Amino acid sequence: MKKRILIVEDEKDIARLIQYNLDKAGFMCDTAGSGEDALAALARKGFDLLLLDVMLPGLDGLEVCRRIRQDARLAALPVIMLTAKGEEVDRIVGLELGAEDYIVKPFSPRELVLRVKAVLRRQASVGNADVLRSGELILDKARHKVTVEGREIVLTAMEFRFLALLMGRPGRIQSREVLLNDVWGIDADVYTRTVDTHVRRLRSKLGTAGAMIETVIGAGYRFRQDDEN
Ligand code: CA
Repeated sequence: MKKRILIVEDEKDIARLIQYNLDKAGFMCDTAGSGEDALAALARKGFDLLLLDVMLPGLDGLEVCRRIRQDARLAALPVIMLTAKGEEVDRIVGLELGAEDYIVKPFSPRELVLRVKAVLRRQASVGNADVLRSGELILDKARHKVTVEGREIVLTAMEFRFLALLMGRPGRIQSREVLLNDVWGIDADVYTRTVDTHVRRLRSKLGTAGAMIETVIGAGYRFRQDDEN
């Protein structure tokens, strides 16, 4: 089945260019010209990915991203932000709000299609395989579900992938750089503090089970091995 993508971009020429290239690559696209229209479209219809421009009239892309992450039905929707050249702060904020990736304008259509495919592939790779379990914390990859003591924890797509990655490598120290690369597919040092932000949020969502994600000072993070419980 074709994947559905919502393109949120107020500049019509850019929206058309993106749509043309994604159509050609085998995706089904809808477009929205404002943050408000984007939220309305998301409420009406299911999408597999959101391409979200930061600079929009009215609600900007960062605010749209924030609202999506607070909506349990949309929290798992992968978002790629479109940011202006030089607006590094937008990229950092976007990633901290849970965007999967960002693309800097001006971009080549080919790069955009590759990034979209990479994000969808990362989603899919978490979506198959098995159940990871550590004490009362259970992560069901196939059903995309995390429970602690039987209580379901709502995680964003990225938090889910992040936890799956840590749980899948118990007892092994994962540096921020490795985590950035494996979870986000990014290798810029600038963004390592983004990892800390996500770990903080993930720990707080997991409650008591959050302590299983250990900080290794100067090295990164490690998921506690079961036999240490
Ligand atoms: Ca714009």
